[in-house]
Amino acid sequence: MRIKKISAWKVDLPLEEGAYKWSGGKSVRVFDSTVVGIETDTGVIGYGEMCPLGPYYLPAYANGVRAGIAELGPHLLGEDPLELGRLNHRMDSALKGHPYVKSPIDMACWDILGLVTGQPVCVLLGGRYGEDFGLYRAISQESPERMASRVAGYRQEGYRRFQLKVGGDPESDIERIRAVSARLQPGDRLVADANTGWLMHDAMRVVRAVEDVDVYIEQPCLSYEECLSVRRQTNHPFVLDEVIDSIDMLLRGKADLAMDVVNIKISKFGGLTKARQARDLCVSMGIAMTIEDSWGGDITTAAIAHLAHSTPTQFLFSTTDFNSYVTVSIAEGAPHRVNGRMAAGKLPGLGIKPRMEVLGKPVLVIE
Ligand code: MG
Repeated sequence: MRIKKISAWKVDLPLEEGAYKWSGGKSVRVFDSTVVGIETDTGVIGYGEMCPLGPYYLPAYANGVRAGIAELGPHLLGEDPLELGRLNHRMDSALKGHPYVKSPIDMACWDILGLVTGQPVCVLLGGRYGEDFGLYRAISQESPERMASRVAGYRQEGYRRFQLKVGGDPESDIERIRAVSARLQPGDRLVADANTGWLMHDAMRVVRAVEDVDVYIEQPCLSYEECLSVRRQTNHPFVLDEVIDSIDMLLRGKADLAMDVVNIKISKFGGLTKARQARDLCVSMGIAMTIEDSWGGDITTAAIAHLAHSTPTQFLFSTTDFNSYVTVSIAEGAPHRVNGRMAAGKLPGLGIKPRMEVLGKPVLVIE
């Protein structure tokens, strides 16, 4: 089987709640997502998606996805999409770095592998653990009172894990953590995600001020070394996210005991093939994971569900359902939240069918 044609669509995904805000005053109202279709010489078409969290979260931006695919695509024509190791090797030889460009291509090839073998992607990624899995809800950065008032509504939707967007002014962040934790019920879990927003002294003041609160601290500072310094001076369970973008960083974090949980985002590693390698390594090393992506719609949500569902339950700290945060559905068959939980689809491949009437005309075709 050979890759015959690569197409890309640009699609806007407006946020249901108006704006998503996190550390440093960063926010997004409409997400710019790229859907990639890979057509083979046998007529099978697989789909993938990549959607950055704006241009200022990770080193990725929406136009860069499309520019990168225009650069990389011609090197992949004629390659076998079923040979995913070889395909990734080819992508890395043709374009150095830029994992977020490679992610939707790799995802679409996993979809093809599933369609051709008649298996859901989660089975091919290792097997389905349990009936379903729990989701977290991100709470966009607002005043402490507004953030606390959101908890009841999200709990009504079934969520029991809450990820607070902090990383702002330390006094307000201390109030945010206290106000939200006062609304929690037994069994709920709270993560305060600073998204690199604190300097070390800010982070130290916050973790000391909430010493008595049952809260995880996620990525307090910009660099690995700064996070490690905070980690070594606090008893809170600790999550690393933005700095864990490679196998090297995972091994380094394990050697330093720098974290209890890591956040594996599919596009941060460069696709399902590499995210699975990171996931399997974490399982071997005894590290729990949040499994997700930077953002996305129905196709990304389906891919996340397949990777999450094929992760041993004990190791899956949490995951999320991005398609419920946005107002546009780009594919049929995507998984949806049921009482705060989700399951990967049981159809072959990613189990989705793009809504071509929503995607419109492709912005890029390589053949
Ligand atoms: Mg995070």
